[in-house]
Amino acid sequence: MTALPLVFDAPRRGMPPRHLADLTREEARAAVTELGHPAFRADQLARHFYRGVTDPAQMTDLPAGAREALTEALLPGLLTVVRHQTADNGRTRKTLWRLHDGALVESVLMRYPDRATVCISSQAGCGMACPFCATGQSGLTRNLSAAEIIGQAVAAAAAMANGEIEGGPGRLSNVVFMGMGEPLANYARVRKTLDALLTPAPHGLGLSQRSVTVSTVGLVPAIRRLTDEGRNVTLAVSLHAPDDELRDTLVPINTRWKVGEVIDAADAYARKTGRRYSVEYALIRDVNDQPFRADLLGTLLAGKLAHVNLIPLNPTPGSPWDASPLPAQREFVARLRAAGVATTVRDTRGQDIDGACGQLAAADRVEGVPSVAVPVPSVEPPVELGAEGDS
Ligand code: SAH
Repeated sequence: MTALPLVFDAPRRGMPPRHLADLTREEARAAVTELGHPAFRADQLARHFYRGVTDPAQMTDLPAGAREALTEALLPGLLTVVRHQTADNGRTRKTLWRLHDGALVESVLMRYPDRATVCISSQAGCGMACPFCATGQSGLTRNLSAAEIIGQAVAAAAAMANGEIEGGPGRLSNVVFMGMGEPLANYARVRKTLDALLTPAPHGLGLSQRSVTVSTVGLVPAIRRLTDEGRNVTLAVSLHAPDDELRDTLVPINTRWKVGEVIDAADAYARKTGRRYSVEYALIRDVNDQPFRADLLGTLLAGKLAHVNLIPLNPTPGSPWDASPLPAQREFVARLRAAGVATTVRDTRGQDIDGACGQLAAADRVEGVPSVAVPVPSVEPPVELGAEGDS
């Protein structure tokens, strides 16, 4: 397996046109004023945007003569559906989006009896080069703008509200940054997205902090920044190995910030927010699933405000690796629990539509633009193996 370089700085090319969702409320009001309209029109536009209304004809509270111009200036269509694929009896829907420059990203909406979660992308591609992850192997195309990230969540909220997902109209309750990209490598735009997700309607989606999860490879300075200025969302750390030697190869950013530093930063986050963080661990047969590694992980996390979320590896095309067999998974879980560490095994939604973690090595080509590969995991709900877990 060839090692890819770590890439932090995304190319600046290709960023989309300005959108209301990129702006603060004050900036949006100023922009509307500059266009010759009263400032409150910005609030009306925001209400339409967060409700998923895109057709100017439906914006009947705006003067007919201003709808088109305002929509064009502040609500440009940034995400075009290439296709939807459904699975799990219509309760999982994966959407492939084309961005204005032809880049492709995916999001996955998963409905459960008690909640609906959308897994969104924060970058086109990813620069973190994890060898087991399809996106990591595709490299980084560019950062998404805040509006492109927020738009995925807004579309999911509208799909739920409109009854497009099996089970009748409902409400989007959770957002996880576990699609394509490293959210903390696109910090400022992800921060804006968090604001939009948490701000009450009509200026946001009004989700609760605990129902939003930011997942990271472990960019320590960015975790610390989120700790200082964050919105107390749930933090997930993709650990995948308890020891530096193995993690250096599985999560190459570990060559910069070691296991101990990442856990220290996550602990500080937990202390500040009072909220448990989750440790993501893809179980890879004979690579990181040995009993001694379960014990190492147990020792590392015992007594901490953390819980382990084990993900049986979703093999990516061309990868020599496979998921751990069930007995190895069970042994791993048992050892972690014996160490007093809350542990769950993730249910994998959408496998038959390549909608699970690391599976979305999109084979698409749209208008001659090479496709980008996306791992979109199904994050919830954890499925218990054996004794009761703590999720
Ligand atoms: N960059 C962020 C979010 C990306 S993906 C991060 O790394 O946390 C979300 C989760 O899916 C991460 O824990 C990632 O390591 C995991 N993942 C990626 N590819 C996978 C695969 N093939 N099988 C199982 N999990 C995978």
